[in-house]
Amino acid sequence: MSRTQERGTVRVEQGRYRVQGAFHYVYPNSPIFDEEGKLVGVTNPRDITHIHTYGGEAPFFEALSQGRLLGTECRNPDCEHTGTRHVPFIIHCPDCLQRTDIIDVTDLARQTAKVHTFMVTERTGAFNTLKKPVRFINVEFEGVATILMSYLSVGEPKIGQRVVPIFNTHEPTYTILDLSWVPEGTSVEQLPDHFTFGA
Ligand SMILES: [Zn+2]
Repeated sequence: MSRTQERGTVRVEQGRYRVQGAFHYVYPNSPIFDEEGKLVGVTNPRDITHIHTYGGEAPFFEALSQGRLLGTECRNPDCEHTGTRHVPFIIHCPDCLQRTDIIDVTDLARQTAKVHTFMVTERTGAFNTLKKPVRFINVEFEGVATILMSYLSVGEPKIGQRVVPIFNTHEPTYTILDLSWVPEGTSVEQLPDHFTFGA
């Protein structure tokens, strides 16, 4: 496909995806020679636009762009563990396999979120867009059965540290990177570009 073609985009029309433009680009390759000049192989540069459908998780990502954190709760009265809350957002209860209800946990997070544990990494995977070193934190909430993986944007993480959520509400990417955390007491001026304390 030609590089002059428009990069692929998707819109929805009458409940169906309508795709437009190019989703696969191939670039000129280059040979790989050994120290004696013998051909060993070639590089194969190409780039692909994935279409990632969020399905039942779409409300979670939409809420981040609006400065709210959503979780889920099993409200099936027949579930052995009815009332169990989950953050991250899950669609089906792992105990009874019934559909969960969406709950807004923004205020709970502001009041009770703590660093359960953390990991600081200088080496990241392919396509990392976070600033290095990345301060990954596992966040726990009062009354929630699960622990959320995210990243700290200000300061150094400590186990037990109280943190509050921040949201990329100015230029949302509609991905999990729109959610980050800062130590309790952090001022608005210290937040990264495009982030706010939410709504
Ligand atoms: Zn259940």
